[in-house]
Amino acid sequence: MLRTFSFFLFACMLTAAPADWIWSARYVITEDAQHRVIENGAIAIRGERIVGVGTRAEIDRQFQAKQRLDRPDAILAPGLINTHTHAAMSLFRGIADDLKLQDWLEKFIFPAEAKNVTPDFVRWGTRLGCLEMLLGGTTTFTDMYYFEDVVAEVAKEAGMRGVLGETIIGFPVADNKTPAAALQFTEKYLQRFVNDPLIVPAVAPHALYTNSDETLKASRALADKYKVPLIIHLSETKKENDDAMAQRHMSPTKILDSLGVLAGRTVAAHGVWVDDDDMAILKSRGVGVAHCPSSNMKLASGVAPVVKMLSLDIAVGLGPDGPAGSNNDFNMFEEMDLAAKLAKVTTNDPRALPATAALEMATIRGARVLGMEKEIGSLEVGKRADMIVVRTDRAHATPMYDPISQMVYALKADDVRDVMVNGKPVVRDARILTLNAVQILQKAAEYRAKITASLK
Ligand SMILES: [Zn+2]
Repeated sequence: MLRTFSFFLFACMLTAAPADWIWSARYVITEDAQHRVIENGAIAIRGERIVGVGTRAEIDRQFQAKQRLDRPDAILAPGLINTHTHAAMSLFRGIADDLKLQDWLEKFIFPAEAKNVTPDFVRWGTRLGCLEMLLGGTTTFTDMYYFEDVVAEVAKEAGMRGVLGETIIGFPVADNKTPAAALQFTEKYLQRFVNDPLIVPAVAPHALYTNSDETLKASRALADKYKVPLIIHLSETKKENDDAMAQRHMSPTKILDSLGVLAGRTVAAHGVWVDDDDMAILKSRGVGVAHCPSSNMKLASGVAPVVKMLSLDIAVGLGPDGPAGSNNDFNMFEEMDLAAKLAKVTTNDPRALPATAALEMATIRGARVLGMEKEIGSLEVGKRADMIVVRTDRAHATPMYDPISQMVYALKADDVRDVMVNGKPVVRDARILTLNAVQILQKAAEYRAKITASLK
């Protein structure tokens, strides 16, 4: 008997393929083309990539792993993809709320930025942002700020994936005093990170209304030269649209398209005031849209026609936008929940945006927004191992009939227990493995005092 068993073990070792990790859970939400949810599922990982997806029994038969993590009370899902944010602004969290966008920007954010934004500020603000994002299950963030090279350094230190755009804007800012200087700075930044395994550097002209046509065209040319995305705010407010119509008799989307800015990988944040013609352009150019429901609600910007965009199969992802006054956090669970509910209340139809669509926007459709759907966004063999384990044993998560419904409507960011990015565990048992959380929180408190004093 013992002999037969030993032979069986020996045979298994001969046929089992090597893996670095096996992670298993009660449910594996794959977000693959069939939207498979595997009960008692497991994922095998070798190096940076997923090498096996199946039931735990199948994966245990096929793979011999060096290490394993079994979470029989949890959901294993693709890492969440944030398609629009400004991570370093976390140091301004709640500095001024309940204001109109222009007042908030001109009376608080621009003065606070002018007095405080330095590479050190960006480093600690981004560390704080990455800490919150990773602990809440976000594995990829799309950022737009100043000193974006520092953001990229911090993302690498945190072990987080980033699509990180250096801001180009038509007035003097912390890192560059002119658009020409910003374009030069951006080119050096692109050269430094263009082949990085975790970072996709990007060119981020702030918006149509803050840049000249020449700067916008030069931004597109620079993005194309290095085959990287262009990130821009688009039709966030009614004023932006009204001004464009008054000055140029065209919508912001049409103006950008006429300049050739949308001809190439583009991530457009908000898209609140786009009409049918604009959406046809976004669709035909393959522009990805970052829907930011919390921000749009908090600033009363309006409601993006997301249901229409989804019916056109436009790539629409989710973003928390700024933590300073337009949200004020990086909680992708909240964005999923709000995206679904905002679409329902504004269409008067509870079927308008179901949980399946909200989770898809936070994962595989978000990956499409970034042009990264072949690499991330789902748990499939060959893809990068970016994944999260979410506990389901608390009162608000029990009982569970449908894991996707639970993810969108019941679970919270702090239910995230383990996180892996690019094959490396970065959160274990809700503790960050890559950053010094105590030091980051202490630095944030120090910055609060400094920023408050600077505004007096
Ligand atoms: Zn933004």
